[in-house]
Amino acid sequence: MCSIDYYYQPDFYCSRMVKAKKNHTCQECDRLINIGEKYQYVSGKWGGIISTFKTCSHCVVAQEWMIKNCGYWEHGNLHDEIIEHACDYEKMELYRLAVGMRRSWKKFKSNELMSIPA
Ligand SMILES: [Zn+2]
Ligand SMILES: [Zn+2]
Repeated sequence: MCSIDYYYQPDFYCSRMVKAKKNHTCQECDRLINIGEKYQYVSGKWGGIISTFKTCSHCVVAQEWMIKNCGYWEHGNLHDEIIEHACDYEKMELYRLAVGMRRSWKKFKSNELMSIPA
């Protein structure tokens, strides 16, 4: 069950996967999106204000979980949402996503990125 009972409906919303032409920062986990990497580019209008969001391909997996199980999520708040849901659902996959996001998807004691979760 989702504890949040509202969904901030955008006036318009456009999401696509694009290839990075320069370095970006994922707005969910703060990790660097490298040149050539695929990331999700979203533009939308919420309450009359146009915003754009860049999300790394790792965090998109967490997003997809939220969409599938709760039908919604909020940009910029994905980490908190996943932690909350990990507590509610007590699912290992969710804890793994939460830890991954907190570590900016870096492997333990390494700068290498984790593989993208299934
Ligand atoms: Zn939920
Ligand atoms: Zn990310």
